[in-house]
Amino acid sequence: MSHHYDLIVIGGGPGGYVGAIRAAQLGMKVACVDAFKAKDGGKMALGGTCLNVGCIPSKALLDSSRQFHNLTHMFAEHGISATDAAIDVPKMIARKDRIVKQFNGGVAALFKANKVTAYHGVGTLHGGKAVSVKAHDGSQHALTATNVILAAGSVSIELPFAKFDGIRIVDNVGVLDFEATPKRLGVIGAGVVGLEMGSVWRRLGAEVTILEALPDFLAATDADIAKLAAREFKKQGLDIRLGCKVFKADVVGDEVQLTYNDGKAEQSLVVDKLLVAVGRRANTQGLLAEDSGVKLTARGMIEVDDHCHTGVDGVWAIGDCVRGPMLAHKASEEGIAVAERIAGLPGHVNFNTVPWVIYTEPEIAWVGQNEAELKAAGISYKIGTFPFAAIGRAVAMNETAGMVKVIAHADTDRILGMHLCGANVSELVHEGVVAMEFKGSAEDLARICHAHPTLSEAVHEAALAVDKRAIHKAN
Ligand code: FAD
Ligand code: NAD
Repeated sequence: MSHHYDLIVIGGGPGGYVGAIRAAQLGMKVACVDAFKAKDGGKMALGGTCLNVGCIPSKALLDSSRQFHNLTHMFAEHGISATDAAIDVPKMIARKDRIVKQFNGGVAALFKANKVTAYHGVGTLHGGKAVSVKAHDGSQHALTATNVILAAGSVSIELPFAKFDGIRIVDNVGVLDFEATPKRLGVIGAGVVGLEMGSVWRRLGAEVTILEALPDFLAATDADIAKLAAREFKKQGLDIRLGCKVFKADVVGDEVQLTYNDGKAEQSLVVDKLLVAVGRRANTQGLLAEDSGVKLTARGMIEVDDHCHTGVDGVWAIGDCVRGPMLAHKASEEGIAVAERIAGLPGHVNFNTVPWVIYTEPEIAWVGQNEAELKAAGISYKIGTFPFAAIGRAVAMNETAGMVKVIAHADTDRILGMHLCGANVSELVHEGVVAMEFKGSAEDLARICHAHPTLSEAVHEAALAVDKRAIHKAN
């Protein structure tokens, strides 16, 4: 059966489903094709990587493991004792799965409420904005649209010598579903996935060794923040080895035997499970027919301009399958912006104010430029920092690690970046985002009354420190 839509979105992740809903709000007749299969039973599971095997399940496990770690390591200081503390991993995983399922249903309900038609299967874009759908139930659908948004997301990069088997060598999918805490977990890549998932299993008792190819830890992060975080991770027992090039990963019996070069000599490491987290690539398999006209970049991303347009009339691409940070909120903002552009509105994404968060303990977050980037760009700046150790609320919470750094332009005082490490900085970073969106200065932030006692006082004091007038530290 042939159907025509104002908009067909291929991919139901945070880019695609949000774009579909926004377009429907704007009066368009919208369809969304998504291939993801639910873990139990293979039914439709809208929400993409983010909801099914990314942001949400990883945060569910981070929270469970944090509760366990606090119970076993932190509560005694509060005078709370617990004996025989134990973690039931299958129960923890089942909780995570329930959360995912709840939100799968939530997205489906939103589609229903907004009259977005969902197709469960693989969508392929052909010339003339025709989309064929090979549904998972065996049916086929030939659709056409006035506009198409490609929101196919990304998949983990596989290393040729460490093929994913889902049991011993896993990607982000397998690491979210271990049946028990591995005794020894190896991780290749000290990036976001490696640190977050390494933290989960470390807190539950695994010996975690992370092998990172680069000589610098968290090279894209402000150097002071990365240094602070590295110190905390070391205290937690995360063994992070930098400058290590892995070239062999052999599964032998129940073990994975790794061979790597640490810059000085060949080394070996034996683990029970290996997580490969060396980045992600655009998921374009089966997406584009030869006559689609859509081009890929040398790195396999879908080529788009600043407005997410592919160059083919009415065909757009957003989220992880195009340039820019691979973040759920960036994908969603692009989805909204494209839906608005299609409707003739001025859709816009400000890439300078997309916040980054790494949900380790302490959390790491930033928005805007860091010192290294400003130096490289020849922009003169001033900084103000403030440690959480001098914040009453942080001490009361026993969360004294980390600090806030505010960077402002040396002449105009305009905020250029905010970099944080500490408890709840995933929330605090938005003070920086809002201030930057409103083109605020460090003085603007310094003049805003912050509630006492809160962690946000560290942001306030860091903004005051830019002008060397922090109150609760010597300037
Ligand atoms: P996806 O979420 O990947 O969705 C794409 C969807 O399209 C998928 O359902 C896929 O099956 C479907 N699809 C692909 N091709 C086709 C086709 N041809 N036909 C039909 N359907 C198709 N980001 C954050 O901002 N915060 C976090 O905390 C965070 N945590 C993460 C944790 C992990 C472990 C991982 C792996 C990623 C995490 N991310 C996080 C990144 C985030 O998941 C991605 O940036 C986000 O999901 C990208 O959204 P998207 O809509 O572009 O693509
Ligand atoms: P990443 O790019 O964050 O980190 C990959 C790391 O692996 C880098 O440090 C890189 O230098 C290293 N590496 C690359 N090749 C290597 C090799 N052969 N040997 C050793 N190290 C190697 O990638 P990721 O951790 O896989 O995550 C993918 C993306 O998913 C992230 O970039 C991010 O955009 C997104 N994500 C976001 C969040 C979040 O927002 N909290 C969480 C998870 C994932």
